[in-house]
Amino acid sequence: MRAGFGLWIVLVCVVSSGLSGENHGQAFRIPVLCYHAVSPAASGPFALTPEVFDRQMRLLQQDGYTVLSANGLIAFLRSVQRGERVFLPAKPVVITFDDNYESIRRYAYPILEKYKYQSCNFIYIKGVSESGWAQFRKFEGSSMEMHSHTISHADLVKRQPGEDERAWRKRIFGEIAGSRKILEEKLGRAPAYIAYPYGRWNTDIIRMMRIAGYSAGFSAFGGYVRETSSLDVLPRFTIFREYDLEMFRKIVSGEWSGSQGEPDFVRARDYNLPAE
Ligand SMILES: [Zn+2]
Repeated sequence: MRAGFGLWIVLVCVVSSGLSGENHGQAFRIPVLCYHAVSPAASGPFALTPEVFDRQMRLLQQDGYTVLSANGLIAFLRSVQRGERVFLPAKPVVITFDDNYESIRRYAYPILEKYKYQSCNFIYIKGVSESGWAQFRKFEGSSMEMHSHTISHADLVKRQPGEDERAWRKRIFGEIAGSRKILEEKLGRAPAYIAYPYGRWNTDIIRMMRIAGYSAGFSAFGGYVRETSSLDVLPRFTIFREYDLEMFRKIVSGEWSGSQGEPDFVRARDYNLPAE
């Protein structure tokens, strides 16, 4: 992560000296990919086998994509929105993971290392075992950034039965600010970004996210990050098991039109979250 950010700073400096590749305020579409489990025993709509994941990563390499870190994306977007002249690398794409599956560390990370890709892991606290924390600590300072996916992975928008607004606010602020504090305690660094569970958010949640000290929030099922995208709700593409390589190519190339929409089984919360 540090190396990637360093590289980014170099790029920005090169650009300010006036070389080609600058962003002159033109439109862009950056895909932020959201993965879940990567496992040989892949099952369910979110899990990919390591072979399929490797094939997708190889496509990025063969077709000349530039994998940006989440930090790189945010720095770029901030600069653009401040009206600065910044360099946009060729065919940028961002790789993220949700839900801290053990299989991400075991199977996806070595593949990312092989291609020298940076990535970002959104962790929800209750899903991490003690050995999981030990592994995450080893990633600290590596090419995998770690940020928050709340404490319990609750749908933040939804109130519990009988819960009034005040109680809801208290619980949700606990999810948002509490996870940031715990990640800082466990990993030695406060996360800068949060991914809203199920991609669900509202304006109260965004305010709480900002008060808690995050600088950006990520949604899901959304579409591309554009020059006008709000840092409060950055869209991502969830990569489903049913997607073939052609569909993947379409997404990363910017050809996908519209947003994905929240699938029925996600809306119904009809799937299991990982337990370690
Ligand atoms: Zn999740």
